[in-house]
Amino acid sequence: MPGQRSGRKAIRASDRALTFHTYGNRCAACGRTPKDDQVKLVIDHKVPLDLGGTNDPDNLQPLCEEDNHAKQALFADHEENAAALRTSLSLPEVHMRIGELLKSMEGQNVPKELIMLVAREENHGDPTKRMRELRALGWSIKNLKRREGRKVRSFYRLEHWEPWPRGGPQAAVVRLERERKGSKRVQDD
Ligand SMILES: [Zn+2]
Repeated sequence: MPGQRSGRKAIRASDRALTFHTYGNRCAACGRTPKDDQVKLVIDHKVPLDLGGTNDPDNLQPLCEEDNHAKQALFADHEENAAALRTSLSLPEVHMRIGELLKSMEGQNVPKELIMLVAREENHGDPTKRMRELRALGWSIKNLKRREGRKVRSFYRLEHWEPWPRGGPQAAVVRLERERKGSKRVQDD
């Protein structure tokens, strides 16, 4: 739909080049390259423009066409969650961003990719640690794996949640972590 893109600014050529360079000319999802794997790389917005993402280089990554199509399909499947995704992305703390998205889709299988999107910490890879921290705050979250073709996809399903602790989840997680270490070390500080 050409009309949809008319209001958007084009990505600067220098930012495109920088993005390819930063990622070593590899697909950010599968690691394949045009040279070794004959894939075509396109520039992807990590947070889509529709959800408030920008053309800032921090928000850009190369994807092969296959992974780019998979990502588009994922958002097409979750069009009805766009408002919840936008809301989650706007929250200041990572546990809130993940938790509020899970709450908006309580009882549904939420793809790991959506969790990673709102976590906004893709470079750290895996939301497993954040899920563990949410569980430590009393949340119940199931992890499910499903084989789809050659890929194994991962989903999270919220079964129970707790109100956010006073002072925010990040502070509570730090406090719990400190208590856990303290009880292990039996007061050596
Ligand atoms: Zn790829």
